[in-house]
Amino acid sequence: YDVYGAPVVTDSGRLRGVTIVLHDITEQKKLEQIRKDFVANVSHELKTPVTSIKGFAETLIDGALQEPELANQFTEIIWKESDRLQTLIMDLLELSKIENAQFLLHLEEVSLKGISDEVVTLLSSKAEEKKMTIHVTETGQSTIEGDAQRLKQIILNLVTNAIAYTPADGTVHIKLIEKEHDVELQVKDTGIGISVPERLRIFERFYRVDRARSRNSGGTGLGLAIVKHLAEAHHGKLEVESEEGKGSIFKILFPKKQA
Ligand code: ADP
Repeated sequence: YDVYGAPVVTDSGRLRGVTIVLHDITEQKKLEQIRKDFVANVSHELKTPVTSIKGFAETLIDGALQEPELANQFTEIIWKESDRLQTLIMDLLELSKIENAQFLLHLEEVSLKGISDEVVTLLSSKAEEKKMTIHVTETGQSTIEGDAQRLKQIILNLVTNAIAYTPADGTVHIKLIEKEHDVELQVKDTGIGISVPERLRIFERFYRVDRARSRNSGGTGLGLAIVKHLAEAHHGKLEVESEEGKGSIFKILFPKKQA
């Protein structure tokens, strides 16, 4: 608590009492802590690839360039780590844009089926690498009023995760189901699943169940934070169902018309 005290004095100047104001700063402290954690996380996430890029570049300069095999291997690492930096920076910019109050949706009629098909095309080589199949089904019409770019980002992030956290040979199913006033999007995988306590935290910025696994699959820990913000911006209701070792379903119920 912040505590303020002030004497209460009568017209004639006599002390009548004291006013004490207790200001509950729990919320303020919590926000301050979140901000500090965020800065620490960003710094750490940026530092790791930069350290690696610098180290391998130095080794090349110090002579590894003369050995073609090493040179190839090291430039490959440098490329991968710069790619990772770029993804991280783009995710951070995206998150800061959508967390900003000035963020606006460009509303139009959008077919979630059409967008899902585009996402499947974008991710087809990633899925093939892991011998995974992705299919899309539509029950009724999946047209809603929304921002096509942002909706694509939502589905892209969910399907990217579904592929990353599912072992080889698995399946991803994007289901679109028309309801009376809404369209439900489901992204269902046959992956590792998410425990109940972790389900409460995965939408936090930078939270990952397994940091190494996420890093290896190119994750930044920001994908689901972005999904949450974009779903909320569309007045969508987000839910996760999961069974460890069996798979997960991410569901978003989108209103057909924005209020
Ligand atoms: P990341 O870039 O690490 O994938 P996200 O914000 O997209 O970050 O997801 C946060 C964490 O939630 C992931 O690191 C992973 O542990 C977990 N997660 C997300 N999607 C799935 C999924 N489909 N199956 C299992 N775990 C998942």
